[in-house]
Amino acid sequence: MRFNSLKSRVLSWFIIIIFILLSSFSYALYYFLEQSINLRIETSLYNTVNKIKQAIDTQNLTDDYDSGFLILKDNKIFYKSPKFNLKKYKFYLKQNQEFFINEINEYNIEAIYISKFTTPFNGTIILYKQHISNKAEDVEDILLVLNPLLLLFLIIIGNKLIDKVLNPIKTLTATAKQITIKNFTHTIDIPKNDNEIKELVEAFNEMITRLDDGVKTLDRFNSDLSHEINTPLTVIKGELELCLKQKRDEKFYKEAISKALQQTNQIRQLTNSLLTLTKYSKQSIIQTFTKVYLDSILLNICDKYQDRLTIKRFESISIEANETLIYLIFSNIIENSIKYTPKDKNIYISLFKAKDKIYFIVEDEGIGIPKDELKNITKRFYKVSKSRNKAIQGFGLGLSIVKNSIELHNGNLQIDSIINKGTKVTVVF
Ligand code: ADP
Repeated sequence: MRFNSLKSRVLSWFIIIIFILLSSFSYALYYFLEQSINLRIETSLYNTVNKIKQAIDTQNLTDDYDSGFLILKDNKIFYKSPKFNLKKYKFYLKQNQEFFINEINEYNIEAIYISKFTTPFNGTIILYKQHISNKAEDVEDILLVLNPLLLLFLIIIGNKLIDKVLNPIKTLTATAKQITIKNFTHTIDIPKNDNEIKELVEAFNEMITRLDDGVKTLDRFNSDLSHEINTPLTVIKGELELCLKQKRDEKFYKEAISKALQQTNQIRQLTNSLLTLTKYSKQSIIQTFTKVYLDSILLNICDKYQDRLTIKRFESISIEANETLIYLIFSNIIENSIKYTPKDKNIYISLFKAKDKIYFIVEDEGIGIPKDELKNITKRFYKVSKSRNKAIQGFGLGLSIVKNSIELHNGNLQIDSIINKGTKVTVVF
C-alpha cells in the first residue's frame, strides 16, 4: 500500500478519528463513574452519621457500623470506636470541608465524613471508612485492555470497508489501462447498489462507448477520404501513363492534361471542403463575425440559377455572422435542390423573419430522400444510394458543412422529404 494512496489516507484519518473518539469516550466514562462512586460513598457515610446522631440522642451508642467513628464533645474526645484509627484527624477537622476521599493505593481508597451537631451537646462526629475498593480503577484497567482490542477490530473492519469502496475504482483503473485506441471492448460490470460508484462506472462505460463511436467514425472518415482522393488520382495516373506510353498528337495531350486538371480541381475542392469543416470552433468563429446582409448573398446565388428558382417570400435581413459560411449554407442547399430536381419541376426560396427568428427555406419538387436515410445525410461523406443518379457528382460533404456551419451560428437545420415528391430544407437562426 502506497503511503500517499487514497486508501492509506482514508485509513489514517479513520484511525485518528476512532482513536480520538475511543479516548474521549473512555475518559468521560471513567470521570462519570468516579463521580458516581464518590457520591454513593458520601451518601452512605452521611446515612451512618445520621444513625450515630440518633444513637447519641437515645444514648444507645454501639460500634456496630461498618466505619470507624470518633465523637468530640466540646473539642474533646467523647467516644472513639475501635475501628477508628485515623491518626491525623485534627488535620481534617481544620479543613472547612465535610467530605474527603483519598487514594491509598491503586485498588483502595479511604473516605472521611465530618458532621457537627448541637444537641444533646456541642459535638462533632468524624466518620472514617477505609479499604474501600476502587471500582473506577477496575473499569480503567478493563478499558486499557479493551480499547486497543476495539481499535484493532475497528481498523480491520475499516480496512475491509475501504477496500470494498475502492475495489470498483481499482477495476476501473485496470480496465482503463487495458484500453487502447484499437480496443474499446472492455466495459465494467455495473455494481448492484445504486450509489456514486455505480454512477462513475456508468459514466466510464458511456465514455468508452463514445470513444469507440468516435474512433469508428474516424476510421470510416479515413477510408472515405482515401477513396475520394484515390478516384481522381487513379484517373490522373491513367491519363499520364497513356501520354508516356507512345508519342501522341497535340490534341490527345491537351485532352489528357485537361482531364488531369479537372481531377486536380476536384481534389482541391475536397481538401477545401474538409478545411472548412475543421477550420472554426464555436469560440474562434466569433472573431470572424461581421454584419452580413443575408438578402444580398441570397440574391447573388439566385442570380446564377435564375431560370430554376422561384422566390416565394423575401425580406431584407442582416445579422452578425461569418459571411463565407453563410454563403456556403445558402449555396449548398440551393445547389442540392437544383441537382436533385428535374428541370421542369419547381424550387421555391424563402427568406423572412418571424418571432425574432430568421428563416431560410428551400422547397423543391425533386426526387426526394428516402425516410430511413434522412438521419444520415448530414454525416461526412454520406451519399444517398449512389445508383440514384450517377451523373451527379459530389463528395457527400455538402450537408455536413451546412450543418456544421449552422451550428457554429447557433442555428438549427431541419430536412423533411418525401420520396419522388420533394424536399424541404429549413434553416433557423
Ligand atoms: P453532396 O455534396 O455529394 O451533394 P450532400 O451532403 O450535400 O452531398 O448531400 C448528401 C446526400 O443527400 C446526397 O447524396 C443526396 O442524395 C441527398 N440530398 C441532398 N439534398 C437533396 C435534395 N434536395 N433532394 C434529394 N436528395 C438530396
